[in-house]
Amino acid sequence: MIKYVPQMTSVVIEEIPDRVTLAVSISNCQGNCVGCHSPFLRTDIGEVLTESIIDGLLAANYGVNCFLFLGEGDDLPSLLRLARHVHEKGLEVGLYSGRKEVEKEIYYAFDYVKIGPYIEHFGPLNSRTTNQRLYKVEHTPSEKPYYRLTDLTARFWRKGIDPNIP
Ligand code: SF4
Repeated sequence: MIKYVPQMTSVVIEEIPDRVTLAVSISNCQGNCVGCHSPFLRTDIGEVLTESIIDGLLAANYGVNCFLFLGEGDDLPSLLRLARHVHEKGLEVGLYSGRKEVEKEIYYAFDYVKIGPYIEHFGPLNSRTTNQRLYKVEHTPSEKPYYRLTDLTARFWRKGIDPNIP
């Protein structure tokens, strides 16, 4: 199961360029970034995130056009199922992962994927030296590997914005 921290749910405009995004913070993070910004997200806290809870969040935040998972938890099949559900609601869906690379199934299911652990001396997305990358995923069902990635990371440098989430 995927769990989220309800108190940390918010509408954001910086994390995904040109989108009004409803962001949920996912717990049970399996990462071990040195200098982790939210160590409590590495524990089993929060509430189970289900399709019906997502429906309720979207109804309460009418007008958002993207749904963002800040973290991926410890249950990939459930994460993919929830991402597909968001798609079926007609919204784009993003994932901020702290891993260096993710499974191809994640690229199949998501429209935006951020990868890379937080490494303090490289800085977060808005640092020109960052090791992290935010990709826009274009799905190409008739052409292997069935997705194409466009690196949007430089958008954060030009705007000089702080995603505030390493
Ligand atoms: S991915 Fe985020 S929550 Fe997980 S260890 Fe890294 S900084 Fe902490």
